[in-house]
Amino acid sequence: LKVTEFVTANEMANMMDIPVTQIIASCMSLGLFVSINQRLDAETIALVSEEFGYKVEFVSLELIDSIQEEEDDPATLKDRPAIVTVMGHVDHGKTSLLDFIRKADVAADEAGGITQHIGAYSVKLENDRQITFLDTPGHEAFTAMRARGAQVTDIAIIIIAANDSVMPQTVEAINHASAAGVPIVFAISKIDLPGANPDKVRESLANMNYLVEDWGGKYQCQEVSAKHGTNVKDLLEKVLLEADMLELKANPDKGAVGSVIESTLDKGRGYVATLLVQAGRLKVGDLILSGSYYGHVKAMFNERNQKVESVGPSEPVLILGLNGAPQAGEKFHVMENEKEVKDIANKRQQLQREQGMRAQKHITLDEIGRRIAIGNFQELNLIVKGDVDGSIEALADSLIKLSTEEIQVNVIHKAVGGISESDIMLAAASNAIVIGFQVRPSLAARRIAEKEQIDVRLYSIIYDAIEEIKAAMEGMLSPEI
Ligand code: GDP
Repeated sequence: LKVTEFVTANEMANMMDIPVTQIIASCMSLGLFVSINQRLDAETIALVSEEFGYKVEFVSLELIDSIQEEEDDPATLKDRPAIVTVMGHVDHGKTSLLDFIRKADVAADEAGGITQHIGAYSVKLENDRQITFLDTPGHEAFTAMRARGAQVTDIAIIIIAANDSVMPQTVEAINHASAAGVPIVFAISKIDLPGANPDKVRESLANMNYLVEDWGGKYQCQEVSAKHGTNVKDLLEKVLLEADMLELKANPDKGAVGSVIESTLDKGRGYVATLLVQAGRLKVGDLILSGSYYGHVKAMFNERNQKVESVGPSEPVLILGLNGAPQAGEKFHVMENEKEVKDIANKRQQLQREQGMRAQKHITLDEIGRRIAIGNFQELNLIVKGDVDGSIEALADSLIKLSTEEIQVNVIHKAVGGISESDIMLAAASNAIVIGFQVRPSLAARRIAEKEQIDVRLYSIIYDAIEEIKAAMEGMLSPEI
């Protein structure tokens, strides 16, 4: 049964060809009182259809009607450049590295320098190969996009200053990249400084189970000076090597699909958006749908502020012509039929009004037992924050040991400190539950948690935390009223 999330009880009854009263009764047995025209969330839809012997497959809203994203025939796939994000602790040199790379771009002579910030840029290296860099460094932007559903980064460069070593945001950056399954290349920076101790960085990484290649591990690592550009070329070679292993490919000859990098309302030009094409070819005149906004591409500009007629996979481009500003991380599709585009845009706007801005329903502790019982839940992702290192380690270890044959418990991030916005965004992007031990969420974190509907659990006794998660996994947790 192919359904979109948020179909109504009535629509579901029609699809399964049963009276709507049976749907309502089934919801009631789950403790939900629904009306005929009430929209149901994904979990309820899955549970109810299960009861009537259907297996559901969720198709996202953009696929409603005819926008089927077809599997590409392998013969149509061609190599595409890697898309890279630079992450690391504040002041460790992210901006300096991106600036140096932008200036060292060899295409500058023939194609003009990169003159405007559009959120991403593509550089050509001496060996004629290209890399696309996302120009908003940091794991916050990376995870915020991922929470919207966009996975655009292929490789993360994690930069660590050799005079400062691994810092809290370095750990966060590493965990955010790992939670996304994005391969990491380490850049040990500021090696020109007298106090630089690159081996201390290698050692700290080894202690986190990230053994670098020169120490016999699998993680590529390069010493650089971002300020002077020393060894940056070698760093980029290693990024290319990583890219080769990923065998990045896309079909460049179909209607474009990709993600929004940033968008704003410009006084003179109307709505402008930077799009990153992930597959296909985007051309001036194309009809684009992104979230609940749409429009024909009136003009396109590259990062060199030159007008362009078309762009292919992994290329960023600034476009004019949308009738609104879609959020960063929103997908976009090129479509044929204007009426259909308007229909979908309207439907999405309506859903947004009805559902608030809630994008997606995330897992809560109360649901786990039920989800395990119906067999569609195999991994429980947790983020553990606490007041002291020792208790965080103890708690994380005990939680991981709760893993059973049916369900794997992962601690995707653990750190000392209060629960931050970045923790909540990581939870949203990775469908995780946040556990605070002797710490609380900041006001901003609490607001986002509410909006994104992230389950945040606070404990002051380790035993309580372990017992509660265990009970939840056994389906013994009594729902919170
Ligand atoms: P970001 O916060 O990670 O973006 O860090 P920045 O790139 O803004 O760098 C912070 C400071 O460190 C700036 O004053 C830079 O000039 C300096 N810096 C960055 N990289 C290097 C480096 O390789 N060597 C030296 N000596 N200074 C650096």
